[in-house]
Amino acid sequence: AWRLRSIRDHIRTIVDFPHEGILFRDVTTLFADPRGFRMAIDQLLHPWAGSRIDKVVGLEARGFILGGAVAHQLSVGFVPIRKKGKLPGPTIAEHYTLEYGEAVVEIHDDALQPGEKVLIVDDLLATGGTCAAGIRLVERLGAEVVGCAFVVDLPDLGGHALLDRMGMNVHTLCA
Ligand code: IMP
Repeated sequence: AWRLRSIRDHIRTIVDFPHEGILFRDVTTLFADPRGFRMAIDQLLHPWAGSRIDKVVGLEARGFILGGAVAHQLSVGFVPIRKKGKLPGPTIAEHYTLEYGEAVVEIHDDALQPGEKVLIVDDLLATGGTCAAGIRLVERLGAEVVGCAFVVDLPDLGGHALLDRMGMNVHTLCA
């Protein structure tokens, strides 16, 4: 019998990508499906209806695809947080630790104004390290993170708990 497919049904798992032993959650199949993509954007937005949001901040790279659509729907601007060396103008940077080594993310130093309310968007929440670094960047510019929205939550990796401890409003669509 026909039934409405859920967000989760559109996400596939790729074994041993990018390294052996990793189960990679691939959201490109969700993005490619017209109903799935619209459903994801609508559901990412849902909790923030009626809240003031001035900017959507997307985390490279799949956060750009989701965040761009969310910003369009809210009629607000979009701001990218990128890996080091990609943004052309003056930036500020935050370092964070990965399983092996360190990563650096950057934001343009004039991309947000003090007091602006920001929604952070990405495809997946794992350890929360990327999002936590993004939150620090937003806050260093004097803006306020009113929420963090993700399609996939991997709570066993601790990211959801980390963002909760930071006092963040976290919204995820599936585990
Ligand atoms: P975290 O910093 O450990 O929370 O990792 C989240 C970041 O890594 C996000 O930007 C995700 O896009 C990416 N990521 C980690 N694991 C996966 C995965 O299984 N599928 C897709 N993206 C992932």
